[in-house]
Amino acid sequence: MTITVKAPAKINLVLDVTGKRPDGYHDVHMVMTTVDLSDRLELSLLEGGEIRMNAQHAYVPNDERNLAYKAAAVLKERFQVKEGVEIFLEKHIPVAAGLAGGSSDAAATLRGLNELWKLGLSLEELAEIGAEVGSDVPFCVMGGTAIATSRGEVLEDLPAPPPCWVVLAKPSIGVSTADVYGALDLKTAQHPDVPKMIEAIKGQDFKGICEGLGNILESVTLPMHPEVQQIKDFMASCGAEGVLMSGSGPTVFALTEHENRAHRLYNGLRGFCNEVYVVRLIGEKH
Ligand code: ATP
Repeated sequence: MTITVKAPAKINLVLDVTGKRPDGYHDVHMVMTTVDLSDRLELSLLEGGEIRMNAQHAYVPNDERNLAYKAAAVLKERFQVKEGVEIFLEKHIPVAAGLAGGSSDAAATLRGLNELWKLGLSLEELAEIGAEVGSDVPFCVMGGTAIATSRGEVLEDLPAPPPCWVVLAKPSIGVSTADVYGALDLKTAQHPDVPKMIEAIKGQDFKGICEGLGNILESVTLPMHPEVQQIKDFMASCGAEGVLMSGSGPTVFALTEHENRAHRLYNGLRGFCNEVYVVRLIGEKH
């Protein structure tokens, strides 16, 4: 028996870090939303109990370091599942890009194994298990749009933002999330206005959303990688209504309501960036 699951990427419309915790993690206050750039996973039942990972990607591990493998192992252990699984992962989301690709693969694995292993768990239960695998996994289990606090695992639903085009561009550098958080100076960095973004989304105010985009981690990644600022400037000069770096970067996204503008952005960015995607927001939860 084989089950196919989609693992969509996320972007942060606003990302603030409010403090450092005694456990080494940071407290965040952010809004995440899902976009239709997705990895594809095929989960096949193995009677023998083994977890096998097949990612076929140079930068993605095929062992217990893979977040999809980790998710399967946590679920198997928690419910003492006898069967195993072979996870075939087709990567489309850029790796180490600030798009939560690994977290989304873990979340899709949890949703798929819930069916394959006939566990009958709710999405809320799967999200709680996902928090053991990574802070962004609970959001990826639920999908849609949400406010995330604490380490990122405490979620509050938001309505989907008004439909628009999202142009993603990833410069050919990888950014380590841990390094970026490690270098963040909470005293000097400018904090974005998270409540303003939440109001704009609730009010379906596209202009307000574009004006409210903000990410405190830009204060670390932009000086480290000038090409990220160059992409932001280029997108703005092409008429994008809103522009921001996602997560710890280096991916930058542009929001626009106009299809022709999205394609103009795509064509312009392809000139100096290998990985460029034109996608839509995914409004609904899983
Ligand atoms: P985030 O936005 O949550 O910080 P990211 O998009 O920056 O995540 P990922 O693509 O999730 O980063 O992966 C970061 C690292 O995790 C990679 O360098 C890779 O070695 C490892 N990794 C583990 N599992 C996966 C997976 N399923 N897909 C991609 N990378 C994975």
